[in-house]
Formats: sequence, structure tokens, C-alpha cells
Amino acid sequence: MGQQLPPVDCKWMELAVKLSRYALEVNETPIACVIVNHDTNKLVSYGINYTNASLRGTAHAEFQAMELIREKVSNDSSFLQNCTLYVTVEPCIMCASLLQQLNIKRVVFGASNDRFGGNGTVLKIQDYIVLKGLMYKEAILLLRMFYNKENKSAPLPRLKSNRKLDMASFPSQEIDSEISSINSTTIRWDLLNTVPERTFIKELDKQIRTPA
Ligand SMILES: [Zn+2]
Repeated sequence: MGQQLPPVDCKWMELAVKLSRYALEVNETPIACVIVNHDTNKLVSYGINYTNASLRGTAHAEFQAMELIREKVSNDSSFLQNCTLYVTVEPCIMCASLLQQLNIKRVVFGASNDRFGGNGTVLKIQDYIVLKGLMYKEAILLLRMFYNKENKSAPLPRLKSNRKLDMASFPSQEIDSEISSINSTTIRWDLLNTVPERTFIKELDKQIRTPA
């Protein structure tokens, strides 16, 4: 067990949070992930929850990321062995079992998934390394923003002027010790209040296609 979390983990989780913020803007449940190769420290895939637009209940962020790998990067089934997946919400049982089958090395997630979590919260089905709790407050706030928006079916108000959004209390969840010191810092409102441009996605696509 490492005592300190590599700063690189924070950087990649920030990107996943940013992608979730993008998902919120396009009316998807704001859950997103990125997959990074350890050897090159390069982004190899990303996924945004796509269940609303596709009307496919299984189009979770992790599934979307796997599809992107198959389409654009590699058909090699051992491709994920050197990779970490960063996802804002704990993978559900279905996604956890897919990641297991594909031999992913490591998963870092934010908020626990109380109903369907497959990395220990409901079931623990993985052999891969798991780190839990990184930026979980940001992940939860994005989900609250989404439900708030759904309920009102109105344009999303600026976060800080939205008094109905609970921004102070968070459910207790298991957080790995490496992460607790990082989470004690302030919430990253900069990521939550900023809507990423469409070009942001294009830039990610470019990174994935560029060979290491
Ligand atoms: Zn899932």
C-alpha cells in the first residue's frame, strides 16, 4: 500500500470529472471515465455515459470506453493489462465484471455506487487493484446537479446561485488512506462550474489516435 497518491492520478481524475461535466451539459447522467496506459502515461480511451441518447441501459461510461478502444486503438485482448481506468462513480457489477474479464490492472473511482457497485460496495468481484474515493464529492455534486436539472426540466442555473442544491453534506463512504489527504482540500468548483467546449472532446480523440 503506497502512502502517497501519485499526482498523476489526480490529473487523470480531473479529466474524468471534466468529462462528466460535459455529459451533464448534453443531458446524460454525469458519469465518465478515462483509461490511461502506465508505461506511456498516455490517454488511451475515454467514455461518457450514453444511456439517455442511445436508449441503451448498458451504455455506461466504461462500456463506451471499451468500444472506443476496439474501434480506434486495438483489438488486442491484453491491451488493458497496463492500464488504469479512472471513473467518477464506482463501476457497476456489469462493468466491473467486464473490466475483470479484460484484465485491467487498476481502477480508481470517486463516489461509491450504493445500489450497483461492483468494486466492493454491493459486490466485490474484482482481482484488479482498486482505489476508492478520489474526488467523490465532485462526482456526487454532478449527480445532484443532474437530478436537480431533471426535476425542473429547466436550464441549468449557475451552481453557486442554486440554493436548492445540497453542496455541504455528503454520504459517508469508504475512502482509501492514500486519497483522504487529497480530498480534504476544497471542492474543485472550477471543474464543476466550467462547461467544457465541444473542441475538448475533439482534442481527446486526437490524443487517442496519436501513437505513443
Ligand atoms: Zn456499469
